[in-house]
Amino acid sequence: MNLRKVVFLLVGAGICIPALGGVRNAESVNSPDGKVSVTVMGDSLARYEVRLDDQLMIEPSALGLVTNLKGGGILTLDSVSEVRLLTDRYELPTGKRAVVDSRASERFFHFGRDGRKAMDVEFRVSDAYVAFRYKVYPQGETLCAVVSEEDTEFVVPENTRAYVCPQMSPMSGWARTAPSYETHYQVDVALDSLSRVAAPDGYSFPCLFRVGDAGWMLISETGIAGDYCASHLDYEGDRIFKIAYPDPAEQNGFGTTGAAIALPGYTPWRIVMLGKTLAPIVETTAPWDLVEQLYVPSLDYQYGKGTWSWIMKMDPSCNFDEQKSYIDFAAEMGYSSVLVDALWDTQIGYEGIEELARYGRDKGVSLYLWYNSNGTWNDAPQGPRGVMNDIVKRRKDMRWMAQNGVRGIKVDFFGGDKQETMRLYHDILADANDYGLLVIFHGCTLPRGWERMYPNFVASEAVRASENLHFSQADCDLEALNAALHPFIRNTVGSMDFGGSALNQFYNSKNKPDKGSQRRTSDVFALATAVLFQSPTQHFALAPNNLDDAPAWAIDFMKSVPTLWDETRFVEGRPGEYVVMERRAGDTYYLVGVNAGPEARKLTMNLPTSQGVVKGELYTDDAALAGSVKTVSLNRKGQLKVVMPAEGGFVYKYTVE
Ligand code: CA
Repeated sequence: MNLRKVVFLLVGAGICIPALGGVRNAESVNSPDGKVSVTVMGDSLARYEVRLDDQLMIEPSALGLVTNLKGGGILTLDSVSEVRLLTDRYELPTGKRAVVDSRASERFFHFGRDGRKAMDVEFRVSDAYVAFRYKVYPQGETLCAVVSEEDTEFVVPENTRAYVCPQMSPMSGWARTAPSYETHYQVDVALDSLSRVAAPDGYSFPCLFRVGDAGWMLISETGIAGDYCASHLDYEGDRIFKIAYPDPAEQNGFGTTGAAIALPGYTPWRIVMLGKTLAPIVETTAPWDLVEQLYVPSLDYQYGKGTWSWIMKMDPSCNFDEQKSYIDFAAEMGYSSVLVDALWDTQIGYEGIEELARYGRDKGVSLYLWYNSNGTWNDAPQGPRGVMNDIVKRRKDMRWMAQNGVRGIKVDFFGGDKQETMRLYHDILADANDYGLLVIFHGCTLPRGWERMYPNFVASEAVRASENLHFSQADCDLEALNAALHPFIRNTVGSMDFGGSALNQFYNSKNKPDKGSQRRTSDVFALATAVLFQSPTQHFALAPNNLDDAPAWAIDFMKSVPTLWDETRFVEGRPGEYVVMERRAGDTYYLVGVNAGPEARKLTMNLPTSQGVVKGELYTDDAALAGSVKTVSLNRKGQLKVVMPAEGGFVYKYTVE
């Protein structure tokens, strides 16, 4: 065994093996409903294990940090706090439910040295997740530390299978913009196929696991506010996953890996979301339960729907006339924004943007403007470059945007998880709030609790998003598969700016079969993903030609679909095969499904009709993926029966009378 794995805290050059103080060898903390439990063991090394309904989900796994704190001596588990029940009610208007009630059991495990506090491990155990973080105390006059590595492990049981995305290698990919969380999933794979060759840089959060028949687990982290690096999971073999800090080569090798913290200081929360079924995972609020709002919103932010020329027409469309036509298109759809993508600084100019902003204002349409994140860590030539990474320049541009009524920014190509980079996200968000601007990130890391922490945060890409449908037929061929994965994995822990719901058959500016990739999924599928893929602002991949060439019922649906949700419910599904979910906005329910195939799927769903008659519009596909809509009413005992063909879907938009 690697020596480092048996130490709880490596202090300077000394190796500390925890001995026990006045506590027993193992202490537990149970969830409020008693079904989830964590046991922390402090015998020869500090470890924890997690159980669900008495079944082991995380086998004894190491805890520990490697720091540069000086000193020495033996670290002992000195005491364990009483278990305290924490309850909270908070608003999360841009997430999967508008009001969240959370409860968890909290317990601190205090580790010390020579009678002095060194570190706590704080656990919160809810009915649907286990979260923990480390708190490091000052040592004498030492009030800061560098955490260079973390020994935290997640040892999964024997029969576990994985649904994971390899972390992209640093400075790889287009214009050396990676890592940006845009790899293909490895779906339902045995652990022995998770090789270092396939994923030399480990796996991006979140990582989904099926533990035999015992249940499901989604592992991630939350609560990074520029004060820590972001992590991912390395697979060490022998069923051991371990927290890994960023690769030193990220950001062109500039900036350190690891984290610098003031003392007392915390690591981010490590979270294991778990359930016998997938419902507690799909419906989880763990990433937000564990964080706090960092500042007050400077505006009553408006989200909503918008149009976006780039997805069908690419860089050349970022010109004044085309953007004007997309403002007209947005107005016709009743949408409130247009996303003006890269190169506007040279192809439209600042004065041209001011004119577009005025033109849009008269039609109730605001602008989002694209920015490159930097000028120093990628080769992406698109401008504006070198603005968002410089506090003086970005605040100057933000002031100009505020003066012209611009609604938000989309900042692209970050390519890294170093603390240095996480601080840039934090700084951009905080500055943007000063100027009443919303923020979308692309080419970026996974958001970690940011919907609650930063009230002007909209969503991040951090997914193999719609641009790849344009770039490659292979991605179009996998569109249904990926749509049946995101609701269980990526979108579960953060708003996702996918830029989807195309109604073009072909990804080109004229929707003609002469070039580009071809969409294989149905129009109803596109409608369903407008609900499945959650983000409070949606710039859909629609094009003005869809007003003429798409079915009227599809356009009407896309005009009215909400982007903010009061409630989200998982109905049924299996990652990579199919998914059925329901979201509610006000008194209207959107029950939607997509089927990755290969076979058609017959569904019989019991709707919550206890309050009365269910009445709604049912959008379905026939075997040839031709869609239609009809009014369907169900009585009190009503069941809804639907057939979803492969690469098709359904939507039942209903109210209860
Ligand atoms: Ca991207």
